[in-house]
Amino acid sequence: RMIIEVRDLVVGYGAATALDGVSLDVAEGEMVALIGPNGAGKSTLVNTLCGILAARRGRVRVTGDLALVPEGRHLFAPLTVDDNLRLGAWRRRDRDTAHIYTLLPELGRLRDRPAGRLSGGEQQMVALGRALMSRPDVLVIDEMSLGLAPRVVASLAAHLRDRNAADGLAVLLIEQNARLALDLCSRAYVLEAGRVVAAGASAELAGSP
Ligand code: ADP
Ligand code: ADP
Repeated sequence: RMIIEVRDLVVGYGAATALDGVSLDVAEGEMVALIGPNGAGKSTLVNTLCGILAARRGRVRVTGDLALVPEGRHLFAPLTVDDNLRLGAWRRRDRDTAHIYTLLPELGRLRDRPAGRLSGGEQQMVALGRALMSRPDVLVIDEMSLGLAPRVVASLAAHLRDRNAADGLAVLLIEQNARLALDLCSRAYVLEAGRVVAAGASAELAGSP
């Protein structure tokens, strides 16, 4: 069963076309990467998946609960980590943050710190925790590794693997870092200038030039 289905999607800004016939799938429990350079159309696709931008042609279907880990994290700097996590809850009764500290133990000692005072890696962990608060079926993660040390990225990746293996969490990982994306995800799409120029198993894509 598919969680995300994108078919022949065309999205533009005024006269410009940012996505020109993109098709992409993420199945239940699958980890899929979308790789592409600056300007390829990755943010446009994220915004269309989240309903912020409208399709000009084609369609986007999301079956299940989608949570976004946005590029740049977008935490509320003066609020504590715990309050930032609470903001990830969709419904009032889901506001208990305890399960997040179990999933991401690194956040425990940070819980009462203002999010704006944390390191970039710590903030990215909070953004991940906030997205997990709503117990989603699929995470869309936009440029998770940007500006972070390899050790920090490895620990974020390990958490994603765990959630995938234990809970069947599906992931659409949007990355400029192709090596990380191909390492973490079983399948990948390469986006360039608004078109999918390559797609397939990560092992095959990693071996091609
Ligand atoms: P990426 O996230 O891969 O860097 P974007 O989706 O941001 O790519 O951009 C895709 C294309 O659409 C680029 O050519 C970009 O300049 C253009 N674009 C993005 N946002 C806007 C906008 N608000 N207005 C006009 N053009 C835009
Ligand atoms: P990304 O890091 O995802 O590539 P960008 O730097 O492309 O982000 O875009 C940052 C913001 O600027 C986005 O809101 C995007 O829509 C907007 N933007 C990008 N390209 C253009 C453009 N050519 N004209 C107007 N807005 C743009």
